[in-house]
Amino acid sequence: TTKQLIMSEKLAAIGEITAGVAHEINNPIAVMQGNLEVVRAVMGDRADEAKTEFRLLDEQIHRISQIVTKLLQFAKPEEYAGYVERHAPDNVIDDCLPLVQHLLNKAEIDIVREKSAKRLLLMNRTELQQVLVNLIVNAIHAMPDGGKLTFVTRDEDVDGRPGLAIVIADTGVGMSDELIRKVFDPFFTTKRSEGTGLGLSISQTLIKRQGGRIAVESEEGRGTTFTIWLPEAA
Ligand code: ADP
Repeated sequence: TTKQLIMSEKLAAIGEITAGVAHEINNPIAVMQGNLEVVRAVMGDRADEAKTEFRLLDEQIHRISQIVTKLLQFAKPEEYAGYVERHAPDNVIDDCLPLVQHLLNKAEIDIVREKSAKRLLLMNRTELQQVLVNLIVNAIHAMPDGGKLTFVTRDEDVDGRPGLAIVIADTGVGMSDELIRKVFDPFFTTKRSEGTGLGLSISQTLIKRQGGRIAVESEEGRGTTFTIWLPEAA
């Protein structure tokens, strides 16, 4: 439809602008990082007096460079296509959990696993991890007072082809219907300064590129369920 056409042209334009801006930002970040090291070295013992400030500078520079990486991944996903492998979905979940263990402990979140997928999927390991960690971190953010995070894997066809489903369900704040409609939009966030609003839009791009789908179901005050479907690795 015309509306879809306009939307995809808009996205393409956003992509071009974003890639340009992200590349431009990379150089000054590298210069700042280098100079910070020099200042620290020149200050020698006195650098300790500004320990907190140095840490903050390090963290914020790191944060900017992460945002830039995310922007580039969103804008030029083809350049990040990388190398794909066959994975058992439960093994990928096993690999992701240690990365977020400290957050899970802090928020007192219990993990529930239902492993029934026998099929393997085909995807770049880092990208699949990125998608799952994105969803897990969002779920943790949605459960500030603790809760339950459930992972289900099962064999399930996708668009008439053999595939598998990975379900990530939280018992968090949930979303209104209006929010549900917007969550996959690039730059949509309700997290103010902490959010980029790119997590879900990048995740959707990566999953679609692998021939899969991602969907959300949610109820305010009850929780949210994201389901990813991926085709079985031939
Ligand atoms: P970000 O996390 O940077 O805001 P995302 O694209 O990952 O970007 O998410 C967009 C928005 O979707 C979030 O700001 C939040 O409002 C909503 N959201 C995502 N996952 C959940 C969840 N599990 N529960 C409630 N809201 C969520």
